[in-house]
Amino acid sequence: RGKRAFIAGVADDNGYGWAIAKSLAAAGAEILVGTWVPALNIFESSLRRGKFDESRVLPDGSLMEITKVYPLDAVYDKMEDVPEDVKTNKRYAGSTNWTVQEVAESVKQDFGSIDILVHSLANGPEVTKPLLETSRNGYLAALSASSYSYISLLKHFLPIMNQGGSSISLTYIASERIIPGYGGGMSSAKAALESDTRVLAFEAGRRRKIRVNTISAGPLRSRAAKAIGFIDTMIDYSSANAPLQKELSAVNLVLVKTDEVGNAAAFLVSPLASAITGAVIYVDNGLNAMGVGV
Ligand code: NAD
Repeated sequence: RGKRAFIAGVADDNGYGWAIAKSLAAAGAEILVGTWVPALNIFESSLRRGKFDESRVLPDGSLMEITKVYPLDAVYDKMEDVPEDVKTNKRYAGSTNWTVQEVAESVKQDFGSIDILVHSLANGPEVTKPLLETSRNGYLAALSASSYSYISLLKHFLPIMNQGGSSISLTYIASERIIPGYGGGMSSAKAALESDTRVLAFEAGRRRKIRVNTISAGPLRSRAAKAIGFIDTMIDYSSANAPLQKELSAVNLVLVKTDEVGNAAAFLVSPLASAITGAVIYVDNGLNAMGVGV
């Protein structure tokens, strides 16, 4: 049978999670997604109404099927952790079983096991603030949503991951180089995610022979990136300075095409990458290798 993938962090057809879902579907995987609770209704109704049909087209002409959409808030591990105001918030009250533990249990009940776990989510409430202006709460929230969320997902899904299974997350070069504008502790959160990738590769490798890698992706005009505010500048800068330059149309600036990230993800979770674990893999047209701008 084909492999089964759970992809956390898909709420529209513009982000890296969607692109990874498509590449995995094109390679024959069954797709389950975890969608942030407040974004769930609009995502599901858009899917139903056919709003994503054009972006669902796979290379063979068929449409990507998403077998099931699970509501998820990766900031909470179990119901007891959820504060009252969130529980009763009307955007949450309509859904159930969306803490990490409950989602893993639901997937186990529905399907028994998965082969591939993808973490494609991040959130930093103070991302537009410089680190020196970031509050303690803002910093910890960035780490909770963007770094610990991965530890929690892997911890809860590991017991239902099949032999030969593999996991990836998405990171950004701001973890290791200064990217002014990527604030609020988001640079710190990505540094933690990359370090955790190494430690988790060891622990998940020894326990269950599961591989753990992260893709350091080039800038993309996703919904999350637009919230940061400097994404067009980053794409312009990257396009001007990366070793590989691709043709750009004026209306749709891209550095890396989303399917290039999706295909790297499909490789990393496949047996072709069976000796690769604990790695940060750059899918950025080589920008990370530059020392100065040109
Ligand atoms: P995106 O908006 O498509 O994805 C982010 C997703 O995270 C959204 O669907 C959002 O609903 C979800 N989310 C936020 N908080 C959540 C929570 N508490 N629980 C569950 N889901 C939650 O944007 P994207 O840019 O494709 O982001 C995907 C990943 O790629 C992120 O880790 C991001 O940091 C990384 N990345 C993005 C870029 C870029 O330029 N866009 C570059 C490198 C890495």
